[in-house]
Amino acid sequence: MSAPQVRPDPVRGLYDAPLWEYAKQKELRLQRCSDCGEFRYPPGSHCPGCLSENFQWTRLSGRGRVYAWCVFHRQYFPEIPVPNPIVVVHTEEGPIIAANLVGSDPSALRLDLPVEVTFEPVRWASGGEGMIFQWRLVK
Ligand SMILES: [Zn+2]
Repeated sequence: MSAPQVRPDPVRGLYDAPLWEYAKQKELRLQRCSDCGEFRYPPGSHCPGCLSENFQWTRLSGRGRVYAWCVFHRQYFPEIPVPNPIVVVHTEEGPIIAANLVGSDPSALRLDLPVEVTFEPVRWASGGEGMIFQWRLVK
């Protein structure tokens, strides 16, 4: 088995840290307003719909459709090689989440293609291990 790839550390502030803890368990969870049901992404203190502070970390199905994509040819992080394909996915539950595309050539991407989340173990640049979520095309 090959060593896990190294990735830049994610933001793990008060509201972001649980997202990465759930990812470690291979669960894609986002804050969902306990009062109106709207999802919050990126994580934050208040609901963008009703300003409620109440929420629960709700598991998403991990399925969605291609909303947009791009391929970075400029290297922004020493840990992430280029070309670096990013897919913006409209999840079944509504939130739009960007992550890497894995398992397919980006030339296969088309709008509205079905995708699913996949998790990969990584070593953070500052040390320690974690898990990142990525998108792959549904075969
Ligand atoms: Zn709300």
